[in-house]
Formats: sequence, structure tokens, C-alpha cells
Amino acid sequence: AAAEAAVINAVPKQLFIGGSWSDATDGATLDVRDPATGQTLCSVADASPADGMAALDAAVKTQPEMAALSPRERADILTTAFELLHERIDDLALLMTLEMGKPVAEAKGEITYAAEFFRHFASEAVRIDGGYQTAPAGGSRFLITKQPVGPSILITPWNFPMAMGTRKLGPAIAAGCTSVIKPAEQTPLSMLALAAILAEAGLPAGAVNVITCTDAGAVMEPMIKSGLARKLSFTGSTKIGKLLLEQCADKVLRTSMELGGNAPFIVFDDADLDEAVSGAMAAKMRNMGEACTAANRIYVHADVIDEFAALLAERMGGLRVGRGTEDGVDVGPLIDQATLDKVTRLVADAVDRGARVVTGGSAPDGDGYFYTPTVLTGVARDAAMNSEEIFGPVAPLTPFTEEDEVVGLANATRWGLVGYVYTNDLRRAIRVSEALEFGMVGLNQGVVSNPYAPFGGVKESGLGREGGSIGIDEFLETKYIGITV
Ligand code: ADP
Repeated sequence: AAAEAAVINAVPKQLFIGGSWSDATDGATLDVRDPATGQTLCSVADASPADGMAALDAAVKTQPEMAALSPRERADILTTAFELLHERIDDLALLMTLEMGKPVAEAKGEITYAAEFFRHFASEAVRIDGGYQTAPAGGSRFLITKQPVGPSILITPWNFPMAMGTRKLGPAIAAGCTSVIKPAEQTPLSMLALAAILAEAGLPAGAVNVITCTDAGAVMEPMIKSGLARKLSFTGSTKIGKLLLEQCADKVLRTSMELGGNAPFIVFDDADLDEAVSGAMAAKMRNMGEACTAANRIYVHADVIDEFAALLAERMGGLRVGRGTEDGVDVGPLIDQATLDKVTRLVADAVDRGARVVTGGSAPDGDGYFYTPTVLTGVARDAAMNSEEIFGPVAPLTPFTEEDEVVGLANATRWGLVGYVYTNDLRRAIRVSEALEFGMVGLNQGVVSNPYAPFGGVKESGLGREGGSIGIDEFLETKYIGITV
């Protein structure tokens, strides 16, 4: 408890604007809660629309200074921040567990993953290149160069409070863009701690500004519509993403959108079942199922579904549920009551439509927003959970028999973030991977997130890619200079 109080005390609780920490102008605050207990941990500043505009002004004013830093200077800031994240990983992980709920070991995994975005983009910052070409008709030359897009608004969700921040801040800083970043109201503390680290790493005052607020719509809309920012990068729900795209249309902002998913996880009868079960555990249970990459629909060949269900239920049933700060806990609480209610509703609907509960199927008694890891089998194709993101520790199994049939089922969704395929048949593996209408495919692999690979979706899962060598392009504008020689 002393360690918990110490990390909560140490984190700044104000807005970070122009390199200084300040209260909201009207003194408003918002409470941050521990989802394992429902208790308030602390409160942080609750920005008003005027505070949001002040943060954006700071980003706009600092843009020329940021653009003038050399690539090496920008890379060095990111490298220092990477090192500081590792030095302080224990405290940062505990802080994340307190505000978000995931077990400390998983929180440490997230800090490592988050830091890796800084390491990756430090090496991309010094590799921004251009081109030189003779016009096909002769005479003039084309000089092609890349410049920072400009001040950027970054909005992140609560499920990965640190990594969703570094995934945007890494390329923004590497490209020479200033930003205002707004973490989710449920999990502001990790971002505030990150802002302090970036300042310590030598980032110029005003290059990254952090605002925390409860009424995101009221604060962000005037900022977006002002046209003072040139870019919006958002990770969150498809519903809010669409609303923000409309707002961005007004001043034609560049956008990157990482929205919802509804990942199919397909197990063919020729797959290695033990590996498929391990993959399903990773794809389902990472972050308690609260990930846009989470396996949402598990299609298993009818010949192996009973064996698969038994193996998966054994693994799921063996997980320990509890407060993420306790040793040996595998599964923490869900983020809030609304998420718990949704999971409960989706399970009830599936059971009403004939699904059988193999393990779990309910919320344990007591405080906090816990849900027992659950395996359902024989889930009807029209069950609500096949067309809605579950965002919880529930694995719904549906049988199939034909390859064409399962590809059709997998693609029959408005989302297209990631699909998983387990098969040992090489030709089938390639055929199905190519046929899946998703931005990413995990082939005999249950986790695709990697800072060095291009992450992103098609259809209503979003626009653009984060990470990989193309991730920095989201924050760069291409300029062509025509030259008469
Ligand atoms: P979730 O359902 O996972 O909470 P949201 O899309 O609601 O997903 O939230 C993701 C992020 O978007 C959070 O930082 C949230 O505060 C922010 N957000 C929510 N509504 C709006 C809005 N109207 N304008 C701007 N940001 C918003």
C-alpha cells in the first residue's frame, strides 16, 4: 500500500501546457478510479475548452522550433525517453495497474512495448529521405522532400494507457511535429508520467502538451475545427472515429484512425491444436480481452471443436482473477461498470440463442468490475457477440466445415483490423491470408502488435498505419520542388 501511495503521489496531476504544469483555469478536477475496487485513487485537472485551446496555441507556437531541431536531436530525445521508461518500469507499471487494472506483469510488458516505439522512431527520425529526378520530358528536375505535417492532436484510449501514447508521440516527435495529446479520462496518470519523462529527456517546452478532461467532445471539437492543428491521430471506438472524421473535414485535417475490430480466429482441422489453443489464449486474454485486436469470433472446424473447447476451457478455467497488484494474478478487472454490463449482456444473448457455457459465464461477487474467463461453444452465427466487440474475457466458439464458408463468415463484418488463422497446410495458409479482408493477419500466431510492423485496419477499422517503417509517414507531408536547370 505504501508503494501504491508513493507512485500516485509522484505523478503530476495538472495540465502540461507550454512546458509548465497548471491547474484547469476554472479549478475543475476529475477523479481517477481503481477498477479493482471502484475507489478513487486521486484527482487530476479537468481541462475546459479554453485550456484545450491554450494547449493547442502552445503547440502551434512551438512548431517552428520543433521543425528546426536536427533529426539527431529529435532521435536523442526519444532514445533518452526510452531509457527512462526502462529505468522506471516498476513504478510506471504499478501506476498503470492502479488506474487500468491489468496485472503488473502485463503492465510491465506494456511499458516495454511502449518504450520500443521510442527506440524504433529514434532510428526512423534520422532516415527521413527524399528524391531527385529528371522530368521525363527533360529540362526540369524534381526535388522531393518531406516536412513535418505540423501541430497534431492525438487522442488515445484507456486500454493501453502508455503504448497508445508512445505509438503516436514517437512518430510525431521523430517527424518534427508538436502535439496536444489527450488520454482517456479513465487512465490519465500514465500519460502525465510520460509527459514528465519527455520533459526530462530534453523535449522543448510546448512540443508535447497534455490535457486531461471529462467532456472530451466539448474540449476537442473547437480545437479540431479551429484548423490550427494540421493533423488528428485517434485510437478509440469506430463511433467516435466517424464523428471526428466529420469534424476534421471542416479544415481538411490529415487523419490517422485506429478504430474497433471484430477479429476472427480460425482453426482448421489440420492445425496443431495445442499451438492453436495457446494462440487463442494470447489473442483472447491479452489485456483481459480489452484490445481491438482481441479474438472476437473463434471459428473452429467441426471435427476438432470439442477437443479445442475442452483444452481452451482447461486453460481459461485455470487463470487466477484478482486485483492486478497481487502476485500470481492473471486476469484483472474490466475497466468500468459499463464494460462489465456489456459483457454480461452479450453472454446472456449468446446463451439465449443456444450457446453452451463450458467454463465461466458470470461475474464473481464482490467489489470491482471482474468477469470470470469464459468459454462458450455452439455460439449461433447471429449471436450479438459475433457483430459487436466483446472487450472482455469471453471466448465464443462457432463450428464450420468448409474453407470458403469460414472465409465468408470471417469477412462478413464492417470491421477489418486483424484476423488469425491456424493451419499447417501451406497453400491454404496463403490462400486464406490473402482472402481475409483485414489489415493484419496472424498466421499460426496469436499476437500481431509489434512496433516494427505496420499496424492498422481496413474498412471501418480505420485509416493509416502506426509503427513499421511507414509509421512516420503519417506525420510527414511530401513536398515537390520543380527546378528549371
Ligand atoms: P471507448 O469506448 O474505448 O472508451 P472512445 O472512442 O469513447 O472509446 O474513447 C477513446 C478516446 O476518445 C478517449 O480518449 C475519449 O475521451 C475520447 N473521446 C470520446 N468522445 C470524444 C469526442 N466526442 N471527441 C473527442 N474525443 C472523444
